[in-house]
Amino acid sequence: MVMPGETIATGASVKCDDCESFSKIVVMGGPLDFANGYYVGSVCDCGPRSRETLYFEDKTEADNILKNFKNDYEFAMVTCDIDDLESEEELVQSLARAHFKR
Ligand SMILES: [Zn+2]
Repeated sequence: MVMPGETIATGASVKCDDCESFSKIVVMGGPLDFANGYYVGSVCDCGPRSRETLYFEDKTEADNILKNFKNDYEFAMVTCDIDDLESEEELVQSLARAHFKR
């Protein structure tokens, strides 16, 4: 479980201890969100887990951060020969530190 304020970029586990699923990094929020903004965060099978970025009024900003993160992720997955979940988790955490500024 991710504690309040804890993020993947600050070392939270990518794998949820409760449902044991690997968190997906997605754009969340929107006009219906209580904070009224979009952000990049993580979700698992239990629901939303963490908010990794600031809130953005413009969804495009959150979309671009996610797109850059995914590009680097996909590039690393094919070039670094990552074949186990532990290495993949380390990759996601280091990319999160590089891409997600709060
Ligand atoms: Zn979960």
